[in-house]
Amino acid sequence: MKDYATLLKESGLKATFQRMNILESIDMFGHMSIEAIYEKVAQTHPSLSLATVYKNIILMVENGVLVEVPIAGKKSKYELVKEDHIHLVCTECGEVEDKPHMQETDTLLHTLTNNEHFKLEKQQINLYGVCEKCQIEEAS
Ligand SMILES: [Zn+2]
Ligand SMILES: [Zn+2]
Repeated sequence: MKDYATLLKESGLKATFQRMNILESIDMFGHMSIEAIYEKVAQTHPSLSLATVYKNIILMVENGVLVEVPIAGKKSKYELVKEDHIHLVCTECGEVEDKPHMQETDTLLHTLTNNEHFKLEKQQINLYGVCEKCQIEEAS
């Protein structure tokens, strides 16, 4: 298990059990909606409200522990801060798959931003489409 307590403290947040539980769930599933996180965390903390989970997630996004992944036409999902990667987002089932950056994408982004004298600080590349599983379901 990762050291979520240290991660929270380094980001200026108190390491509460709720927050550590939220991080553990997201780490297990990769990308999760607030509702899914709430359902998972409520199994161990039945007294927890959706509003509290929501507030904690937003706070952890603001403090750079979590990243919001917008899903076209659906509710956002959240993931732990990781190395830069590309998302393949299925607009049918909402599945999000992580793909590593390639040398070419990094070069492209740097050339593009340098040419514009734009100081690149954060980046998220989301590609929206239909995953293989949903394509098969559509065809049948
Ligand atoms: Zn899909
Ligand atoms: Zn991701």
